[in-house]
Amino acid sequence: VALCEAEEAPPASKPYDVETRFNWKLFWQFLRPHLLILGAAIVLALGAALVNVQIPLLLGQLVEIVAKYTRDHMGNFLKESRSLSTHLLLLYGLQGLLTFGYLVLLSRIGERMALDMRRALFSNLLRQDIAFFDAKKTGQLVSRLTTDVQEFKSSFKLVISQGLRSCTQVVGCLVSLSMLSTRLTLLMLVAMPSLMGVGTLMGSALRKLSRQCQEQIARATGVADEALGNVRTVRAFAMEQREEERYGAELEGSRCKAEALGRGIALFQGLSNIAFNCMVLGTLFIGGSLVAGQQLTGGDLMSFLVASQTVQRSMANLSVLFGQVVRGLSAGARVFEYMTLSPCIPLSGGSCVPREQLRGSITFHNVSFSYPCRPGFPVLKDFTLTLPPGRIVALVGQSGGGKTTVASLLERFYDPTAGRVTLDGQDLRTLDPSWLRGQVIGFISQEPVLFGTTIMENIRFGKLGASDEEVYAAAPEANAHEFITSFPDGYNTVVEANAHEFIISFPEGYNTVVGERGTTLSGGQKQRLAIARALIKQPAVLILDEATSALDAESERVVQEALDRASTGRTVLVIAHRLSTVRGAHHIVVMAQGCVCEEGTHEELLKKGGLYAELIRRQALGAPSPEAPR
Ligand code: ADP
Ligand code: MG
Repeated sequence: VALCEAEEAPPASKPYDVETRFNWKLFWQFLRPHLLILGAAIVLALGAALVNVQIPLLLGQLVEIVAKYTRDHMGNFLKESRSLSTHLLLLYGLQGLLTFGYLVLLSRIGERMALDMRRALFSNLLRQDIAFFDAKKTGQLVSRLTTDVQEFKSSFKLVISQGLRSCTQVVGCLVSLSMLSTRLTLLMLVAMPSLMGVGTLMGSALRKLSRQCQEQIARATGVADEALGNVRTVRAFAMEQREEERYGAELEGSRCKAEALGRGIALFQGLSNIAFNCMVLGTLFIGGSLVAGQQLTGGDLMSFLVASQTVQRSMANLSVLFGQVVRGLSAGARVFEYMTLSPCIPLSGGSCVPREQLRGSITFHNVSFSYPCRPGFPVLKDFTLTLPPGRIVALVGQSGGGKTTVASLLERFYDPTAGRVTLDGQDLRTLDPSWLRGQVIGFISQEPVLFGTTIMENIRFGKLGASDEEVYAAAPEANAHEFITSFPDGYNTVVEANAHEFIISFPEGYNTVVGERGTTLSGGQKQRLAIARALIKQPAVLILDEATSALDAESERVVQEALDRASTGRTVLVIAHRLSTVRGAHHIVVMAQGCVCEEGTHEELLKKGGLYAELIRRQALGAPSPEAPR
């Protein structure tokens, strides 16, 4: 068992442990449509940075004039400083305008790329094999769509805006610094790298802390998510207290981490303030002695101060940016990873059988199968089964025997490992899967899943573009019309306008919104909606996988009635755990250990006294009435 677990663990946790490479080619494809605008944004950002380099020099000249007037008290200060001031004002305006421009352009590119990426990823995720989803956690897939795209987008925007600007400013200001005073610049260049080195070290420690903090928050969220998502189970076991404690413990952990991070950031901020201020003081001190020795003017010293501040700010920006780039690249790698993945079973493509020629005869020829995520564990072994057109075949056997697997193979959620499944003699692999699932096979499972929208839309889900009339026709067939029309239509009916109440008459009840996953309906009602949803496509083949086994006796009767009606004239595979539901079948197949162990009619099998007779006897003992709920 330990070996088995060790082998199985890596694929499940792979997406977050193993860093996948960033796909530059794919990134280029998303960037290409925006190249022109990106170019414009870069030009504007460079322009803004160059203006920023100019400003300290002009400020220095202005200070020089001020100094002159404080010294000499003569001449017209306003007149002399006017052209310089207007020049500065113009530059400020230009700088603001350029900043506005490149930020707008960048946000436009970023949002459009994020949209394209989300769309492409979602569409490719939906196309993946069912086996892919067996191995992945939905939460992780969703977070690739949301958080990872978000993170990538912000990094991209930051790199262009901050990165470009900071680099230009560092270079530009260093040039003007060295022109102002080579000696001061050299001194600064000696002091700066050591400070930057300390800063970078602290920064990387903080990033590590921040990552741990994020992970801890994710753990806490996971606990809350599980408890709130399964609130019925929590309530049923009176586990509120325990869940509270569990969540509280995780929260406590994340508080500790976050406070440590807070302390780290505070220390970093405090130290860097001291460092920056010391740099200013040092520059003033050394620069001041240069001014005293007439090697530098006061204005130049002012320019030097402002420009060196710009360099420091830009360098600090760049070091923050570096961390962001690393994070952005790994987020991007996660986003792109599943965009290039192609499924083994395509969604569409292949031949179709025209409706009039379709007979609906299904055969499993010596099918062997094991789930891709458990390759060493055969579920079906040399399984052979025929579903004659228009007949009802029942598949019975113990739980875990592989009955649902048979249905999954028929829907072509998976391909058999060996052997083949045919429809009217044609291998399923040559047929168009979307036609097969959308028009040929109707599938009703034990746990019907509804979507959080109206009953109308839930039924229409079975057939794209079905008219309202088709929905109204399918509902009574599924015994669903009566309960639907008994609904008061929720909040949809009464509309208030101009202080009057209008009753809008929607098709009674059909516009009732069912809760998320249909939690506002009873099991029997959900199942009948699922039947209507399957019947609206008028399928030639119907699969009923334990369709009534989760229901109470009364709902089972109504649902069974609908199923009996739906079964006539169709090829039907009834999968049943409870044997009371299969007596009406034309043919009964008993499965054990992944293959067929006996088959025949109810009477034949009883007479034979094999596994079927044994199952019947055991169920009769366990449940006195066949209808009694389990
Ligand atoms: P039944 O419907 O007869 O109760 P199933 O077909 O659901 O049985 O399951 C047959 C076997 O296949 C079981 O041992 C089960 O654990 C395994 N199995 C079912 N679904 C999957 C899956 N998605 N991935 C891996 N193993 C599975
Ligand atoms: Mg099953």
